[in-house]
Amino acid sequence: MAFLDKLKAGLSKTKNAIFGQVNEVLKAFVKVDEDLLDELEELLIVSDIGVNATEEIMERLRDDVKEGRLKEKDQVIDALKSILEEMIGEGGELELSTTPSVILVIGVNGAGKTTSIGKISNRLIGKGKKVVVAAADTFRAAAIEQVAVWCERSGAELVRQNEGSDPAAVVFDAIAYAKRKQADVLIIDTAGRLHNKKNLMNELAKINRVIERELPDAARENLLVLDATTGQNAILQAKEFSNAANITGLVLNKLDGTAKGGIVLSIKKELGIPVKFIGVGEKIDDMQEFVASEFIEAFFSEGEEE
Ligand code: GDP
Ligand code: GDP
Ligand code: MG
Repeated sequence: MAFLDKLKAGLSKTKNAIFGQVNEVLKAFVKVDEDLLDELEELLIVSDIGVNATEEIMERLRDDVKEGRLKEKDQVIDALKSILEEMIGEGGELELSTTPSVILVIGVNGAGKTTSIGKISNRLIGKGKKVVVAAADTFRAAAIEQVAVWCERSGAELVRQNEGSDPAAVVFDAIAYAKRKQADVLIIDTAGRLHNKKNLMNELAKINRVIERELPDAARENLLVLDATTGQNAILQAKEFSNAANITGLVLNKLDGTAKGGIVLSIKKELGIPVKFIGVGEKIDDMQEFVASEFIEAFFSEGEEE
């Protein structure tokens, strides 16, 4: 399936939940007036776009009306598209200018960190990069095995220790290995259990100290992985993790399984952190670089009613 089709299929739930309804609202009105705008506002507020992002969208729409850019009903969708596109902004390329550079992958359990590492490794290796992965989620043996399987699939090299070993020590070993093998990118898998938030944040801080000491000049990405199906809860997680690490980008997973794709807007509005990748499935190529225009296009596309 072509990428855009896959994205459309992946986002079909979101699309039908929000923008199918925009079409319904439009059908119920003859012209662009305050009633139509109110109805639209109500619709956006109950979606996962969130209150603050909705306010901004409506403000801009009303400006468009006031300044005569938006007159006809059939201009509403295009006006919405360009507003959303501007608000979301582009994800931008990963900053991987040094050899090695480091991608630290964080997020709560089950968000899709390990899966994303498999997918990202696969993309980087496809571009000719040499990738080393550090199995720094040492909490369960199964987590180490899982990242090992993804490394086999993608062709990344894995640095691992036993279950229960110090994650920072795994990172230390992996950095030494990446330097010796002249790897282009070191990707670090981490644990995400939240039953003891303080320990988790301390563990991340310790990993960070090791990276800063051993690779002080390395280009860094700290990617926070979020599960889109958790809706607004994902935003709360992002706020927590922002306290532990300087998050440079988001990976938003499971957009194939949710009607909550509007969370992308909410996240950008609340946190100002760019979405770098989106996950639309469990397979190795079910990930795409985030391109705002394509995302919005897929949101508003016709067809695939569910
Ligand atoms: P981690 O605990 O953060 O490392 O999460 P995992 O990578 O182990 O993923 C948790 C579950 O989510 C697994 O069953 C994955 O197959 C699934 N998963 C990850 N990304 C996606 C996605 O984009 N779409 C779907 N449908 N499932 C996903
Ligand atoms: P601290 O434990 O909070 O003082 O942080 P450090 O930056 O001193 O070290 C963090 C962790 O990295 C340590 O607990 C070790 O497990 C690991 N580490 C640091 N230096 C070395 C080293 O020279 N060799 C190995 N194998 N591990 C190291
Ligand atoms: Mg994992």
